[in-house]
This record gives sequence, structure tokens and C-alpha cells, in this order.
Amino acid sequence: MNDEQALGLRLPSPIDEIEDERTRREGVRVLLKRDDLIHSEVSGNKWRKLKYNIEAARRRGARALLTFGGAYSNHIVATAVVGARLGFETIGVIRGEEHVPLNPHLQFAVSRGMRLSYLDRSTYREKTSEAVIDALREEFGNFYLIPEGGSNAEAVRGCAELAAEIDASVNVVMCAVGTGGTLAGLAGGLGADQSAIGVPVLKGGGFLEDDIVRLQEQVYGERVGSWRLVLDYHFGGYAKRPPELDAFIDDFEQRHGLRLDWVYEAKMMFALFDLIERDEFHRGSTIMAVISGSGGVPGA
Ligand SMILES: *Cc1c(COP(=O)(O)O)cnc(C)c1O
Repeated sequence: MNDEQALGLRLPSPIDEIEDERTRREGVRVLLKRDDLIHSEVSGNKWRKLKYNIEAARRRGARALLTFGGAYSNHIVATAVVGARLGFETIGVIRGEEHVPLNPHLQFAVSRGMRLSYLDRSTYREKTSEAVIDALREEFGNFYLIPEGGSNAEAVRGCAELAAEIDASVNVVMCAVGTGGTLAGLAGGLGADQSAIGVPVLKGGGFLEDDIVRLQEQVYGERVGSWRLVLDYHFGGYAKRPPELDAFIDDFEQRHGLRLDWVYEAKMMFALFDLIERDEFHRGSTIMAVISGSGGVPGA
């Protein structure tokens, strides 16, 4: 049994079409790539990013996976679930102080056997430094290290498989951007006539452009694919949730029966409709939106 069977993953993920007066008026098709349906507890793109990291960890004979995240990180949850199922110990290094009782994300991770450790914010910023990593090895012994959000070269390779599930009739693919690993791989895997648009969900996301280029360089040796970021849809910053965004989520749910995750996918879908109304897409275009997760806390 391979890992995908062991985890009971639904791959390739399904594709839905949505239609309303906005798409009809502008003459575009909008498809949803339902990576949120890959697994009930693991955000779809988090699986794609973990897949080749798990293989690398096995090759190195690692028994433990150690990774980093904020207290609401879907990647922390995904690592806990995948690690438990595939026979790894897991260690989650969390930004900031411990708050008890643990929030539902962290409680869930602990319920899957993850050990948690906390770094104050200034040390957390240094988490890629040798000094911090050596201190973690001192405390936890040998582990396979996965960076924050899971985004590294292995993740880019996994996310390129998302592009391989998208056929040539799709012209533009949109995704939300946190660390940029998903966009780096998606754009790397698309066909020559296709392009990708990333929507950073944090303020001042311009630095992500460099991060994404660096990730692509690690895998492809250079910047690849036709992609760009649109920076105006962060709604005030990471995990900021103004009433306008909630109104959009309610409206979208009423029209299409899907409640969008407010941290990521709602901002991306808002951007998609805004770009449609601004005539950014040619009539007759097919636009696909990647829905990576429901954003709900597993088990809650
Ligand atoms: C992590 C996450 C993203 C962002 O992915 P990156 O590769 O970090 O840019 C988008 N949507 C959901 C639901 C996520 O959990």
C-alpha cells in the first residue's frame, strides 16, 4: 500500500464548475479544483507539500519529523496527521508562548501524538539559523526538518502534481498564497499556454515574489512558468477578517453551497470575482481556482 492509499486520499481531486450572473455577464467559465476534498483532516496542498518530504525523510532513515508554524497552522495539523498515520514521531515548533488550554488546532495535533515546543517571536524569526536548529537537535535528537508551511523543494515537486491534474482547456489558475510553495510548484507544472495568479493573504506580500523565485530555482534552476501575484486582496493582513469578507463568504455560500475558508480561500475567490469584473480575463476564458482547504478545525 502506498502512502496515498494508507491515508485514504482522494486523488486526483475533483473539479466543480460554478456559474452565476457575474460569470455569465463576463463570458468566463470558473472551475474549482477541490483539493479540500483530498482528505478530511489534511488541507490538500499540505499533503502535496508533504508527499516528497516523507519520501526524503524515509530515505534518510529519520524516525521523527520536526516542523514550524503559528498556533493556527494547517501545516502543523497536517504534519501531525500524516506523521501518525505513516509511522513518524512528530514535533511541532510553535511561534510565541504556550496558551492553555490549547486552541483546537493544537489540541488536535497533540491528540495525534505531536509533541509541541514553543519559541518566542524573536527566536522564531531565527528558526532557520544553525544555532536554533542545533538547540532543537540537542532537545529532540535526530529529526527530518520541514520548514514553516512545508514549503521547500520537495513541496514544489509535490505541488507540480496539482498542475498535472489540470487539463489544457484551463487558461488561468488562481491560488491563495501563504508561503508561496503551492504557487511555485503549480506554476512550474502548468503548460506553456497557461498562467497562474497568486493572491497573498498577508499584507506587504511583495517579498513573496523573491521567495517563490528562490523555491523555483531550487527545483528548476530558474524562474519558470507564467505567474504573478496580485497584492491588493489581503483585507488588512494575515487572519484579518473584516465584515466585507464575511459578507462575501455568506453570499458565496448562498449561491454555490460551499463555505469558503476565511484565512485563505475567501480572499482568493474575492480577488477572482474582482478581476473578472475588471475585465482581466478574455471572454471565453476558463479560470480555475484552487481550493486547498476548508479551513475548519479538524474534529471540531
Ligand atoms: C497553507 C494554505 C495555503 C497557502 O499555501 P502556501 O503554499 O503556503 O502558499 C492556502 N490555502 C490553505 C487552505 C492552506 O492551508
